[in-house]
Amino acid sequence: MARNKKKIVILGGGFAGVECARQLETKFANNPEIELVMVSEDNFLLFTPMLPQVASGMIETRHIVLPIRAICHNTKFYEGRIKNIDPHGKLVNLWGTGDKRSISIHYDFLVVALGSETNFFGMADVEKNAYTMKTLNDAVMLRNRVIDMLEQAENETNPILRKSFLNFVVVGGGFAGIETAGELMDLLLDARKHYPTILEEDLKVVVLEALPMILPGFNEKLAEFAKDKMTERGIDIRLKTAVTSFDGNEVTTKSLDETPSDPVDDSVVDSIRTKTLVWTAGVTPVNTIKRSMFKTDKGKMVVNEYLEVPEFPGVFAIGDCALFIDPETQRPYAPTAQIAEAQAKTAANNLAALIESSQKEEFEYHSKGQMAIIGKRTGIATFLGMNISGFWAWLIWRNVYLSKMATLEKKTRVFLDWTIDLFFDRDISRLKLMKKEEEKEYKVLDEVDDVW
Ligand SMILES: Cc1cc2nc3c(=O)[nH]c(=O)nc-3n(C[C@H](O)[C@H](O)[C@H](O)COP(=O)(O)OP(=O)(O)OC[C@H]3O[C@@H](n4cnc5c(N)ncnc54)[C@H](O)[C@@H]3O)c2cc1C
Repeated sequence: MARNKKKIVILGGGFAGVECARQLETKFANNPEIELVMVSEDNFLLFTPMLPQVASGMIETRHIVLPIRAICHNTKFYEGRIKNIDPHGKLVNLWGTGDKRSISIHYDFLVVALGSETNFFGMADVEKNAYTMKTLNDAVMLRNRVIDMLEQAENETNPILRKSFLNFVVVGGGFAGIETAGELMDLLLDARKHYPTILEEDLKVVVLEALPMILPGFNEKLAEFAKDKMTERGIDIRLKTAVTSFDGNEVTTKSLDETPSDPVDDSVVDSIRTKTLVWTAGVTPVNTIKRSMFKTDKGKMVVNEYLEVPEFPGVFAIGDCALFIDPETQRPYAPTAQIAEAQAKTAANNLAALIESSQKEEFEYHSKGQMAIIGKRTGIATFLGMNISGFWAWLIWRNVYLSKMATLEKKTRVFLDWTIDLFFDRDISRLKLMKKEEEKEYKVLDEVDDVW
């Protein structure tokens, strides 16, 4: 391998990492002096906006993942879990497993795009018993769980137990929570036809949100529209409500409302019997970053206006794992795919500027709008400066997100899934899979391993 090559290593194959790699591939297409490398745990990009539709069985599991090798043709890809980053030695160390050797990768420039993971805010019982909605595995698990609950409820004679099977609680009123609740209701109503003893009124989906509104960041009127539509469909949305515990059978909540609507019943503590709680109430950067040598704030990497780590020039952080303050609100940007991709473009431009000794650009974000679907062919959207709700917003959502899928093959597969869903009922076969992946036995890096 030529020693004088400059190696740009991108950590993370999510929206930020993949977009950055694709931008750099274009910029350095004919430059043999630049080597692009990506390291990620999964060998695919997960298209998260469609994850709730996998959980509801509308889209087939593999149709929302894009293999990195198929979309980043000129980037050398390593599938592996990053153990740590040494910014002084400019090394990234990967865990080995029983099957593969641990290795170290040297870099000249680094882009950290390791995203985030579910934040349980220290509630160990919730972490142990809740379902989550962050990975492909989560969506498959949730779908199986819902079908299993219908199967159990159908023949259950104990009314209390039966009720707890048919109560589904989603915690978090953001994108992930609201879209999951909407899809969950669609799946339940569709699947119910196969369960003669289960009536529509037996099914209950509850959304618990600590803030006074759902979908923060959306125009207030649109968020209110979404709430009303979902309530009309039988989804019980409880605002200013915080979860305090979940033991797998019962979720306890605390009202954060200082002025209760009913002054006689001013109880602040409540509970719901449920076997299925889906936790989407927050994300936090991954541990690799939290315990790294980089300066962090609330776990996120602190970057300057160029998205570069001030202490380590040539190291950039983008996406959910980077802390960048919105100059308008003076608060960190929300963790969204749109912002992750915008930051990826700026980081790629700034890497090119560093290599070509030209002027770096400051990161500026101009939102192209926001969209969410809330189930039953209904959505809300802020698009081209207009606020749209209902069927048209749902249609815009579909068109925009379909156009964002990187390959024609996956676009076609998703489009076909949507079309089939118009004519047929959802499949209610439950696939037996384990709730959690077995822990991998990691092998530590030792002297015999290579530096690549
Ligand atoms: C259900 C759901 C719906 C959403 N809907 C929307 C939406 O409609 N619109 C929107 O804009 N945003 C949406 N989001 C948010 C969006 O998905 C994130 O903001 C976006 O994925 C952030 O991109 P990222 O590249 O920073 O991180 P990610 O996409 O999370 O990518 C991080 C990558 O790093 C890898 N990684 C992490 N740790 C390691 C390690 N130690 N070793 C190796 N690899 C590692 C991961 O495997 C992953 O590939 C949604 C999120 C969810 C969960």
